[in-house]
Amino acid sequence: MNDKIKQIAGRSLQNKPISRDDALYLMQIDGDAVYDLFYWANQIRLRYFGHSVKACSIVSAKQGQCTEDCSFCSQSSRYHTDIEEFPLIDTNRILDVAKCAEQAGSNSIGIVTSGYSIGNSDDLDKICRTIKTVVTDTCIHPHGSFGILTKEMAESLVKCGLKRLNHNLETSERFFPNICSTHTFTDRINTICAAKEVGLEICSGAIFGIGEGLEDRIDLAFTLKNLDVDVVPLNFLHPVSGTPLESGIPLSPMEALKIISVFRFVLPDKEIKIAGGREKKLRDLQSWMFYAGANSTMIGNYLTTKGRKVEDDLEMIKDLHLELQTS
Ligand code: SF4
Repeated sequence: MNDKIKQIAGRSLQNKPISRDDALYLMQIDGDAVYDLFYWANQIRLRYFGHSVKACSIVSAKQGQCTEDCSFCSQSSRYHTDIEEFPLIDTNRILDVAKCAEQAGSNSIGIVTSGYSIGNSDDLDKICRTIKTVVTDTCIHPHGSFGILTKEMAESLVKCGLKRLNHNLETSERFFPNICSTHTFTDRINTICAAKEVGLEICSGAIFGIGEGLEDRIDLAFTLKNLDVDVVPLNFLHPVSGTPLESGIPLSPMEALKIISVFRFVLPDKEIKIAGGREKKLRDLQSWMFYAGANSTMIGNYLTTKGRKVEDDLEMIKDLHLELQTS
């Protein structure tokens, strides 16, 4: 057993902050010590969450035609991808998806719209009406991802019953200009701060395998810690033909698991959710995500790429003797 990993884990187990140097040490671990890293990340998960895990689903409510140029994203109008594009779908379709997600065991439905923001059209009003309907007609929590928001927009969403806003930082402040030139890291931070001010829970995370370095991963983990976000979704690049990152950047399953573990050490008591790209990057090691420290996962399809069958994920959770928390 690696003594240094054990000593760093001791801090996380007591919810004391670990240093940036320690996080970097963990991120650089290789060889058999990787299994010690997983062991302690799992102990930290058990300490804060026991055998309970969460699952959530998303619905792509408006797709494509985005003015922004995020280099990993198939929804930017600057890239020639073959995704289906559509304007904001109506309330009943979102309600149907919410009911299916509820039946499948999800405790929330994330309503996701493409684009810089929903502020320049009547989309915000439509979204507010849809959130009210989901609150009235289901027991599932409505969450959402609507691009850049002002405090006033966030306030309108809260009044309708939105509980949680997803707004990913994607990567470190240093690396962000390499993946997006049309808005800034600060724009994203400002949206998170506006949402926090009006009482929304914050779901904010990252995408890995986009060319970022180890230091960028660490910096992002600490930025999220400082922002005190509630949920940290970790995505792994699923390269889409037509985007600048279509060829993909190698990220092995073990490397992806190490990222999950280090985020667990840095953010010991936060919900760490494995999101897009896990099928592609973890391959046969998908069930290891929980033993690498995650306590939550997305199930079903992602925005423009397919996930695996919901039944397979539910069976995996059952086979691992984990309990799906549905409230
Ligand atoms: S990640 Fe969001 S803002 Fe960036 S291109 Fe895609 S839809 Fe637009």
